Amino acid sequence: MEEVRTKDNLEVAVEKEPTEKYLIDSLKDLVRIPTFVPPGEHYGEIVDLLITVFDELEFECERIEIPADIYKSWQRSDALHGERVNLLAIKDYGAKESIDIYTHLDVVPASEGWTVPPSPFDPVIKDGRIYGRGVADSKGTVAALLTALCIMNANSLESRYNLRIVLTTDEEIGLYSGLCFFADEGFLKGDYLLCMDSNSEGICVGTNGVLNWEMVVHGRSCHSSIPFLGVNAVENASVVIQELNVLKSDIERRESKVPCSPEITKITGQKQIKPVFNVTMINGGVKENLIPSSCTLRGDRRYIPEEEVDAVKKEFVEAVAAIKAKHGIDLDLYQVPGFPPMFTDPDDEWVIRVKDAASDAFGVSKPIIGVQGGLDIGYAVKRTNQPVCAFGVGSSADSNVHGPDENVRISDLNNYVKFLIRLLVSG
Ligand SMILES: [Zn+2]
Repeated sequence: MEEVRTKDNLEVAVEKEPTEKYLIDSLKDLVRIPTFVPPGEHYGEIVDLLITVFDELEFECERIEIPADIYKSWQRSDALHGERVNLLAIKDYGAKESIDIYTHLDVVPASEGWTVPPSPFDPVIKDGRIYGRGVADSKGTVAALLTALCIMNANSLESRYNLRIVLTTDEEIGLYSGLCFFADEGFLKGDYLLCMDSNSEGICVGTNGVLNWEMVVHGRSCHSSIPFLGVNAVENASVVIQELNVLKSDIERRESKVPCSPEITKITGQKQIKPVFNVTMINGGVKENLIPSSCTLRGDRRYIPEEEVDAVKKEFVEAVAAIKAKHGIDLDLYQVPGFPPMFTDPDDEWVIRVKDAASDAFGVSKPIIGVQGGLDIGYAVKRTNQPVCAFGVGSSADSNVHGPDENVRISDLNNYVKFLIRLLVSG
């Protein structure tokens, strides 16, 4: 007779010893494939490894490569190499609803200053945490997903949703990630979308949109001993930066209705996410004794879900026109939109299901939050209109995502396995 599954014996299945070993071993295998981007050279290898696991779990797997012509029309960087291979793994449980479960397989490069593992791509365990590039962002969630699906298989637990697992390329580099391609080609078909590319601080329902900008301040060069014959572009750029600081404070006074995570509120006192304006790069001049003829400023503008990209661009153009008129400075502005913002109603049925499953599994009530960064799911759901929320592993306070010694608590990973089972089986 088939054993009846209850919440109690589910707990036993989730917590038994071999589960954690499987989880850690899977995560180590994933981290050891160096999918850092640029260049992003090992996507085929990691997808082939994952296909062997999903095959065993009786998923139908598709190895989906972005055609070279489409990829090249978006990405022109010489630093990127190799095929852009993505994975779609589908299992039909005969359920009424289906979900797309997404995260990315790429990671940022190793960076300087690692103290824990001998190599960022050879993970080690220390003091209840696992260290290695990508353990938090975002391979930990992939290992947790494999573990959850193995437990479900071993215990004959059916999913209440048909599952569509979407593991894709180039999220960390943009501009055209595997997820963007999936959205454009109609591969995202779930009634709901779970984004695992996040932390475990709360259920993320809002992200900012991104607009990168470049400004060329023009001058006229001459010998520096007779500067009155020229126009100093570097000095004029410093005037422009002063004026941009006024624009920055106007922009950053605004607030979204989307709350920040409690961790961010603790550090900054800020309660809602805000738009951001930064000058992040400056480049000008060729020699000490030469008045520079041009100076280039670059930066980013992150806009809240309540702002429209066209209005954001217009505001910047008008501010720059006023600076030019006030100071008689010659300059050109270029604006390049990146991922759009994302917003899902916190009262949406899907958000509530994810929040309940996460709170139950982690044993604390998980808040609804937003982040000031941008995600490629912003691009995807603008096309698909799927209800989406993001929940992952690690925390902004101590996982050191994108930095040296990236780590995640093993208890966090175990809780994430429980979260997925709650959501898929009983949620
Ligand atoms: Zn990520």
